[in-house]
Amino acid sequence: MALAGTTLEIENLTAGYDRAAVVRDLSLTVAAGEVVALLGANGAGKTTTLRAISGLIKPMAGTIRLNGADLAGVSATARVRRGIVHVPHDRGIFFGLTVAEHFHLDGVPQADEQAAGYEHFPLLYELRHRRAGLLSGGEQQMLALARALVRQPKLLLLDELSLGLAPIIVERLLPVVRDFAGRTATAVLLVEQHVHLALEIADRGYVLSHGELVAADSAARLGEDSALLATSYLGEQ
Ligand code: ATP
Repeated sequence: MALAGTTLEIENLTAGYDRAAVVRDLSLTVAAGEVVALLGANGAGKTTTLRAISGLIKPMAGTIRLNGADLAGVSATARVRRGIVHVPHDRGIFFGLTVAEHFHLDGVPQADEQAAGYEHFPLLYELRHRRAGLLSGGEQQMLALARALVRQPKLLLLDELSLGLAPIIVERLLPVVRDFAGRTATAVLLVEQHVHLALEIADRGYVLSHGELVAADSAARLGEDSALLATSYLGEQ
């Protein structure tokens, strides 16, 4: 049964590769304007969950709904049109293109300083003529995030925004996500290795261990349960 006001609703999802289930019987929700962290050790199944939501892999069982509509049989491209924007951990940017050319691909006029893409990260305007391959890791991630926000998602899936970045950079990026979700009522599902930074901006969190849900709670309560998080991250459950 679809829940009112819930952008993403997953019920009993089982998903994986070549008939081997990586995620089993996962249920979770993300409401409009909510930031939800999906946590767990390497290999716990976080990326697989995001791939199932964005339609890159087909679930073996379970239901995924966006604003109450079942996504079974809806292609990845059609899911993008329905407002699902997925930022994978390789960031999906083109090293040979400049910052401005990336926004141009997304339909934003190249010279527009006020354009949404630059509004979130003014530094990108300064760097607009630089090729993405020459940007620092943090600047590349800003670009990936800004491109995602420009598309005005209903559901934003962020996979390891922090990969390869210093915590101080992550500390600058995550509040932008929090602020954007609140202002635009976008639902955000955030996979993150910097657990404590993620829980600082998240409303709620789910913890996966070996493909199964081991905890679901408010971010504040999960943050206090360091024993649970440490165990999940060591993959000992
Ligand atoms: P990480 O932070 O390491 O990406 P994760 O929680 O996102 O961890 P997944 O990427 O979902 O984990 O991977 C879960 C399991 O699925 C791992 O054992 C991985 O080897 C396996 N796996 C991932 N991608 C594929 C694939 N394309 N084909 C087969 N197995 C895969």
